[in-house]
Amino acid sequence: MRQNYSGPVRMCVSCRKREAQNQLLRLQCAERSLRRYSGTGRSFYLCPECFTAKQTAKALARQCKSGEIERLLNELKEIITDVR
Ligand SMILES: [Zn+2]
Repeated sequence: MRQNYSGPVRMCVSCRKREAQNQLLRLQCAERSLRRYSGTGRSFYLCPECFTAKQTAKALARQCKSGEIERLLNELKEIITDVR
């Protein structure tokens, strides 16, 4: 985390590290599919180091209450390709 940062801090659902909100990707699951946060509903955060981390699959499955890990990872891949 950058020093002297006083904005909101959120936790990455994968590694549980606390990070400045603006450094994290805000996601949500809607109709059991993963997408960028639309502005309404429940959301969660993922830090950039976890985009490709192994344990992220589990975290996504937990957040989306879905066992379709392959599909969730593909959806994540599409989202982060979009962001970059
Ligand atoms: Zn993380």
